[in-house]
Amino acid sequence: MTTNEVIEMFDKYVIANYGRLPRVITKGQGCYLYDNEGNKILDMFPGWAVSGLGHCHPKVVDALRHQAGELLHIDNTFYSEPQGNLAKLLSERAFGGKCFFCNSGAEANEAAMKLARLATEKGKYKFITAEGSFHGRTFATVTATAQPKYHEGFLPLLPGFIYVPFNDIEAMENAFDDEVAAVLIEPIQGEGGINIASNEYLARIRQLCDENGAIMILDEVQTGIGRTGKWFGYQHSDTVPDIITMAKALGGGVAIGAMMAKNEVAEKLVPGKHASTFGGNSLACAAGIAVIEAIEEDDLLQNAIDIGQYTQEKLNQLADKHDIIDHVRGVGLMIGVQLKINGSDIVSKCLENGLRINCTNETVLRFMPAMITTKSQIDDAIEILDNVLSAGV
Ligand SMILES: *Cc1c(COP(=O)(O)O)cnc(C)c1O
Repeated sequence: MTTNEVIEMFDKYVIANYGRLPRVITKGQGCYLYDNEGNKILDMFPGWAVSGLGHCHPKVVDALRHQAGELLHIDNTFYSEPQGNLAKLLSERAFGGKCFFCNSGAEANEAAMKLARLATEKGKYKFITAEGSFHGRTFATVTATAQPKYHEGFLPLLPGFIYVPFNDIEAMENAFDDEVAAVLIEPIQGEGGINIASNEYLARIRQLCDENGAIMILDEVQTGIGRTGKWFGYQHSDTVPDIITMAKALGGGVAIGAMMAKNEVAEKLVPGKHASTFGGNSLACAAGIAVIEAIEEDDLLQNAIDIGQYTQEKLNQLADKHDIIDHVRGVGLMIGVQLKINGSDIVSKCLENGLRINCTNETVLRFMPAMITTKSQIDDAIEILDNVLSAGV
């Protein structure tokens, strides 16, 4: 089909709730996408942080082929090895907690918030979340998402949420009372523009939660599974949360979400309290296991640190050259370029020149390359961006 034919089909049959770029992607391999017109695109934002190992990583594809021949899905009436194995691998790489599996980031956050109410004393119900956050699109998670633009048209939202400015210790202290069940924040805000929580901020939240009998939940949906050069974003600090949520890169391209809770919190989630039909699906868990094994076998956490540093260096050189760049910030492979102008034209022009990047919060170009990215691929990306900026936007 031609590009126009596909777009016409979408116009007729697919709800237009996404602003799409006018390309029809037919194949993905490593750091490259291929479209139906034979164009090759260097992907510095693969799968919106889902394809953390790049597209169609051979170890993930092999694991999926094998599992598909054994058992695609078994419901949670039974035990199954892939689910148990994935939980073990995650637990050993985090704080030794227990996992609940679901299918998306929003669902993982829903599970975390429900568990926080279950695991705290009667009367505690409030959730504190941060301005600029993103936690998902279901009613509870969009309420937790403290950005008015995501709320418009959906009022009334759920009661019990308190919003505070991100990284503001005093505001967090003032928001606490004995009705708070949990604090939910991202260690690094992704959609909010790559805003990094300070170690002092995380430590103070930990302390406040302990003093008030509240649960500390970190949303690691974007920061988790190696993105920042550690398995989880919180591991850059000394703070250990009670619950983490993950999704995106966990399945290497297959839909999966997970919530991990400390054992004493996890034990409150007894039969009948929460569930997900597809949660812990054999195919998705086999993908998750392959992702973790590939990261370790190929030393990709180290590559995320090295390539992340290299990318920031190169972007800083661009910042010296181009006045419209204010500064560059990030951790590992989660990098934001703060512009002085709106960045959406830059994203389109990069795509015309064979480079896919993202713009979030209007003025932040987002680079989230796969953990397999090489220096020469970063060089190619920087060259394209340099040319686009030099041509004037
Ligand atoms: C993407 C994202 C979510 C929502 O995940 P879905 O799978 O789209 O439900 C939640 N939190 C963070 C930090 C995210 O980046």
